[in-house]
Amino acid sequence: MKEICLMGGTFDPVHFGHLVVAEEVRQRFHLDKVVFIPAGKPPHKTDKVILDAQHRVNMIRLAIASNPYFEISTIEVERRGLSYTVDTIEQLRRSFQVESIYFITGADAILEILTWKDVERLLSMAYLIAATRPGYDLNNLEETLKSLPTPFMKRILPLEVPALAISSSDIRKRVREGKSIKYLLPESVEGYIYHNNIYVAK
Ligand code: NAP
Repeated sequence: MKEICLMGGTFDPVHFGHLVVAEEVRQRFHLDKVVFIPAGKPPHKTDKVILDAQHRVNMIRLAIASNPYFEISTIEVERRGLSYTVDTIEQLRRSFQVESIYFITGADAILEILTWKDVERLLSMAYLIAATRPGYDLNNLEETLKSLPTPFMKRILPLEVPALAISSSDIRKRVREGKSIKYLLPESVEGYIYHNNIYVAK
C-alpha cells in the first residue's frame, strides 16, 4: 500500500456529493483506496447536536458497499475526547504503512485550518484537499493559506466538485419539512433514514 485518501467529515448524513468527491480524488491521484472517517466529536462543534455516531457509521457502510476501493474507519468515533485530524492521520499512517496521505474535507472546514491542532505537523504528513461547491469564492481560502509557511501552503489543494451542490444540512432540512431526498443520496441510505425516523421533527 503506497498512497491512500482519508475522507474526513461529520457525514450527517453521507450523500452523493461526498461519494463523487472521493471517487474523483481516488482516480485523479491514482490512489489505492479511500477510507471514510466519520468524526466522533468534531473539535469545532462541541455545542452542536450531531446524529448518533452509530447511525452515521451505518449510513456510510450502506453508501460505500458497492465500491471496492472505499472503506470506513471508526477510529474517531471509538477514540475518547475530541477528534483531532492530526491524531487520526498519525494513527492511520502507522497502521496502513503508507507513503502519502491525502485528507479530503470541505473547504469551509479548511478555512479554519489555522485553529486546528498541530497544523504544521498535520501538513507535513498529509496533503489536504479542500472540496468546494460550484461558485465557491476561493479568495477567503487563499487569504487564510497566506498565513502558513509556503511549503505547508502548497500542501492544501482546492478541488471544485459540481456534485457538492448537495449538502447534509439541506438533506436534514428536507426530511424535517417532509420534502423528497430522492437522488441526493443512495437509495439504501434514504431507506435507512426513513426506517429509523432520523431527522424528522421532534
Ligand atoms: P463541517 O463544518 O460539517 O463541514 C464544513 C463544510 O464542508 C460543509 O459544507 C460540508 O458539507 C463540507 N464537507 C465536510 N466533509 C466533507 C467531505 N469529506 N467532502 C466534501 N465536503 C465536505 O465540517 P466537519 O465535517 O465537522 O469537519 C470536517 C473535517 O475536518 C472532519 O474530519 C473534522 O474532524 C476535521 N476538523 C478537524 C479539526 C482539528 O483537527 N482541530 C477542526 C475542525 C475540523 P456537508 O455538510 O454536506 O458534508
